[in-house]
Amino acid sequence: MTEKTVLGDIGHVKLAVDLFTLGARLQFVESVTSVSRERLIKLYKELKGVSPPKGLLPFSTDWHMTWQANIHSSVFYNVYKFMLEQAGEDKLPALIKAYRLYVEQCAGQDDIPVLDFTRAATMVRFFDSGMLELVPCTHCGGLFVAHAHEHRHTTFACVLCRPPSRAGKTAKPAGPRKLRASSAGSSVALSFPEPLTALH
Ligand SMILES: [Zn+2]
Repeated sequence: MTEKTVLGDIGHVKLAVDLFTLGARLQFVESVTSVSRERLIKLYKELKGVSPPKGLLPFSTDWHMTWQANIHSSVFYNVYKFMLEQAGEDKLPALIKAYRLYVEQCAGQDDIPVLDFTRAATMVRFFDSGMLELVPCTHCGGLFVAHAHEHRHTTFACVLCRPPSRAGKTAKPAGPRKLRASSAGSSVALSFPEPLTALH
């Protein structure tokens, strides 16, 4: 029964522009807007100067479990959860705002956003379908992304409290090390209150 209005149409095109700018894939934008595939492809080319990439969307919960990816995924999902539960946002605006904040957070720490938008959106679906959950670390109290229904001991140490021995030895740029240095051992719960309060 929804009639297409010009304003509604503009809203969907603007949403598509926002999503493409954040790095969303064509399939995702097509699934959340009413803009035709043909127009989306045109829009993508105008924005990026190239055709949208083909290929499958990532489908692996394991990706989020590796050391660096788990830190980034956990930061993002904590912000997303805040947007849903505290800021009262609907799912799609929460995803967009949380992803923007996550990218800003990385930039503020000279860190590279390891979690791209597609991974972030896919991860939200993993949570929605009960494949992933947030588990509190018994050492620092932070909430970390973990496989759901996994047999765990009563104590759970997160990747920051118990980083793998190779974590400090990789010849990566300064970014990841900075993130760890500012978070590890300082009992920081991954919630990043500063940018969140700045929104209000
Ligand atoms: Zn911890």
